[in-house]
Amino acid sequence: MTIDAQAVAAASEFEVANPAGGIAGHAPNATLEDLDRAVAAAQGAFTLWSRQDDATLRAACEAVTAKIGEHAEELAQLITAEQGKPLNGLGSRWELGGAQAWAGYTSSLALPVKILQDDDAGRVEMHRKPLGVVGSITPWNFPLMIAVWHILPALRTGNTVVIKPSPLTPLSTLRLVELMNEVLPAGVVNVITGDDKAVNLGAAMSAHPGIRKIVFTGSCATGQKIMASAADSMKRLTLEMGGNDAGIVLPDVDPEAIAEGLFWGAFINNGQTCAAMKRLYVHEDVHDAVCEALVAFARNIPVGRGDDEHAILGPVQNAVQHAKLCRLVAAAKNKGNVLLGGESGEGLFFPPTIISGLENGDPLVDEEQFGPVLPIIRYSDLEAAIAAANNSPNGLGGSVWSPDIDKARSVAQRLECGSVWINKHGAIQPNVPFGGIKASGLGVEFAEEGLAEYTDIQVVFS
Ligand code: NAD
Repeated sequence: MTIDAQAVAAASEFEVANPAGGIAGHAPNATLEDLDRAVAAAQGAFTLWSRQDDATLRAACEAVTAKIGEHAEELAQLITAEQGKPLNGLGSRWELGGAQAWAGYTSSLALPVKILQDDDAGRVEMHRKPLGVVGSITPWNFPLMIAVWHILPALRTGNTVVIKPSPLTPLSTLRLVELMNEVLPAGVVNVITGDDKAVNLGAAMSAHPGIRKIVFTGSCATGQKIMASAADSMKRLTLEMGGNDAGIVLPDVDPEAIAEGLFWGAFINNGQTCAAMKRLYVHEDVHDAVCEALVAFARNIPVGRGDDEHAILGPVQNAVQHAKLCRLVAAAKNKGNVLLGGESGEGLFFPPTIISGLENGDPLVDEEQFGPVLPIIRYSDLEAAIAAANNSPNGLGGSVWSPDIDKARSVAQRLECGSVWINKHGAIQPNVPFGGIKASGLGVEFAEEGLAEYTDIQVVFS
């Protein structure tokens, strides 16, 4: 671990599995005392860091971005070993490209002082003040990109950080923070890891009085626990949680033309993506042709070990996730038609699976599968399809598929979710706010709106 720029070993270590088989490495099991030390280091560093001028903070973030770029291949190899995703395709090298793009763009953002009034009656300035120590808790699906999404805006606005990655993918974050410490003052970014067994570090962070904000990406259940325990110390929160995104295909599509977009909308990162398409509603006029085109595209995607340069999709990341897929697919088979896949491969491998003939109320439609399995629901009435899409506690993303953009936009307006895409699904950009509504989250990430969440407002009247 890196605490106050020092390499810190722990009394015990835990094994990090390679989802394709074997072991990716070992990570330290931090104690609650290690957490206290990391928070104290970040608090100590905050005094100076929070007073740096804007140009210094920007330059530091640019130096971090350059470090990530210099070590992109090494970090990509670590992600593939611990997360399982392929090096190629939309895999770990692509994740590193995203991490650099987000880090670079976040470096360039600023929240200058706003003059709200300046006249004979007086002057009112609005300042953005850093909060203090930010605690970052990350999941296993995009371990490095999400770490960058959390750390860079915190640093850019003058906060210091303690990050705790998922026990399933700690290795790339340990190395990332080690690299960041080559260009940042001691204590500005610290990392601790643990296996969530004897000690739940994330829970301890949420309740820690020295942490001023938690930024969390992960499941809804954990986000709710964080929100409850953050209340005592009035922590600021940004929570990016799960989704059950719906895609709605209108009757006027060209099935061949949308097949590739539909596939990647659902199967990016093996479906283990918060804003992947998790259910697809297709109008009866084009239902069979869309299914056929989608299956024809999916059939040719090579699945293999992440370190196989030819693989485009890898194994499922972990056994819990794999077991959930097996359960949901077994139940779906009783009712639906398996158009592709449907049987687990060896170990944690699960081939792209497409099942039609399902409807709301079926577990594969109602639950977030978070894996390479897509349920297809046939509809005849658009109003009913919109109602079915909105009939979910979640509201992260959604998509509408049609060459008639005006019509698609009018449907998009009616979907209850934070992002809606037309003729694509899941595209995100560092200059566009991203966040969920309903049970999918609290607050947004990216862009100025996301940056502002790492600050408190102070107004000065004179
Ligand atoms: P998870 O909630 O189990 O774990 C996420 C992190 O929280 C891990 O670092 C874990 O150690 C930590 N944690 C566990 N218990 C905690 C507690 N009581 N308090 C604080 N932290 C605790 O989620 P996961 O299994 O890592 O990720 C998969 C889930 O995350 C999926 O449901 C997916 O939808 C969601 N997700 C959402 C987004 C998004 O941006 N909305 C992105 C990725 C994943």
